[in-house]
Amino acid sequence: MNPDEPTTALSGWGRASHRRGLVRRPVSDDDLVRAIRSAPQVTVRGAGRSYGDAALPDQGTVLDLTAHNQLVSFDQANGVIVIESGALLGDVVEQTLPLGWLPPVLPGTERITVGGAIASDVHGKNHPGAGSFGQHVLWLLLLRSDGTVTQLSAGQDPDGFWATIGGMGLTGIILEAAVQLQRVETGWATRRRHRTRSLDETIEVLRSLAARQELDPELHAVGWLDTHAPGRRLGRAVVDECRPARAADLPPAVPPFPERRGRGSAQGMRSLPGPGVVFGATIAAASSARWHLSVPRSGSLLPLTTALCPLDRAESWPAAFGRGGLVQYQFAVPADGEKVLLQALAYLVGRRMPPALTTLKNLGFGTAGPLSFPIHGWTLAVDLPARWLRDDSPLQALDEMVADAGGRVYLAKDVVVDAELIPRMYPRLDTWRRTQARLDPDRRMTSALAQRLELLS
Ligand SMILES: Cc1cc2nc3c(=O)[nH]c(=O)nc-3n(C[C@H](O)[C@H](O)[C@H](O)COP(=O)(O)OP(=O)(O)OC[C@H]3O[C@@H](n4cnc5c(N)ncnc54)[C@H](O)[C@@H]3O)c2cc1C
Repeated sequence: MNPDEPTTALSGWGRASHRRGLVRRPVSDDDLVRAIRSAPQVTVRGAGRSYGDAALPDQGTVLDLTAHNQLVSFDQANGVIVIESGALLGDVVEQTLPLGWLPPVLPGTERITVGGAIASDVHGKNHPGAGSFGQHVLWLLLLRSDGTVTQLSAGQDPDGFWATIGGMGLTGIILEAAVQLQRVETGWATRRRHRTRSLDETIEVLRSLAARQELDPELHAVGWLDTHAPGRRLGRAVVDECRPARAADLPPAVPPFPERRGRGSAQGMRSLPGPGVVFGATIAAASSARWHLSVPRSGSLLPLTTALCPLDRAESWPAAFGRGGLVQYQFAVPADGEKVLLQALAYLVGRRMPPALTTLKNLGFGTAGPLSFPIHGWTLAVDLPARWLRDDSPLQALDEMVADAGGRVYLAKDVVVDAELIPRMYPRLDTWRRTQARLDPDRRMTSALAQRLELLS
């Protein structure tokens, strides 16, 4: 790296982690090969929607993949798309939804890249039936740090394939991928909304939904928890279940595919309070209002991506937490570890750290990816102002609780977990390290996350 070249300030989506790096934005495969060959250390970055430091450099060059975003081919009869890794999932939806095809896994935002979706092996609200994004990747092209390109799939170097699915950009650069899409009859979703009165009831409703989800990959479910309700009402929730609408579900005047509002436009955005207004009182008021104002109802019709990616309507959410930004702490525990859910919420509330947003989802069985996050059970995510974590300690007790229960934190969101806990949380870490070392023998792929958590040791 030329020391005179200007560096760029970068942050994670939560605005709590920051680094400077020399950023390159290659367009073609050739540009990428040249860039990776000339940089001693490389960090790959997609849309930068990881909350923490997964897409931040430790040192060296950042390769921003967002200009590498072309559609390579689309087999409309079979729903197989081949697309460059810097394309946004929203771009895929834009092209394929009007033709009746949808990515089978969409996280809470469609503004992430295909490469980011594979490298974090993202999950949606339908994980028990649909699995994670990586399970729908038929093959991918990986640019290794020595400049060679390898095609990986479940049948062609499966160890390399599964080390890359969920591998946090550390095995090489995903150039393009073939993804199997899911058929949909319409661009609408039907939603049924429940309201529960306690965490026990929330767990019960979600558990019965999980049993249905296991048989139905199109069924999505999420609980939005109120962590400000006192006593036994802690963890009461609005639980949404939704699924793609069939043509027969639509009233006659409704077109099968609604017009999609531009992803960058302000239309449809929820207006949020201004910068820095998330503090104890506003959090409590919003949490309680969400529960009170959400009326249980069946059969609401809403655009599919609005139902599946509701957080895209709150783009300025991190800014509302002020200059320090926000930390999203997300963990998974096995199905029999549900007591950790109450312990975690009670712990945060007891320390006067009730989360600004808390979601609970079911997870089905995970993949062969050693670093892939989902395990069969529960995943809880809490949004906390980063300023509450300045002394670094409050979440350590939670990390221990999660690890003791056989659970793990989500690397795509993490900024705080202790490196020593990672081998317990991800027991196949050594298997992953062996494959990573084979694919990147000179140790040129890196990131702030990899260094902080000693993933490559
Ligand atoms: C509002 C919001 C809601 C979210 N909801 C969910 C959710 O429901 N479920 C879920 O699983 N996640 C969720 N996430 C997390 C998000 O899906 C992941 O962090 C995702 O990886 C971000 O993709 P990105 O394109 O922004 O990648 P970045 O954040 O830029 O990078 C993420 C990781 O992918 C690697 N990477 C990126 N591109 C490539 C490539 N071409 N080749 C190799 N490695 C690459 C990076 O090195 C990094 O390790 C959410 C995030 C936000 C902001």
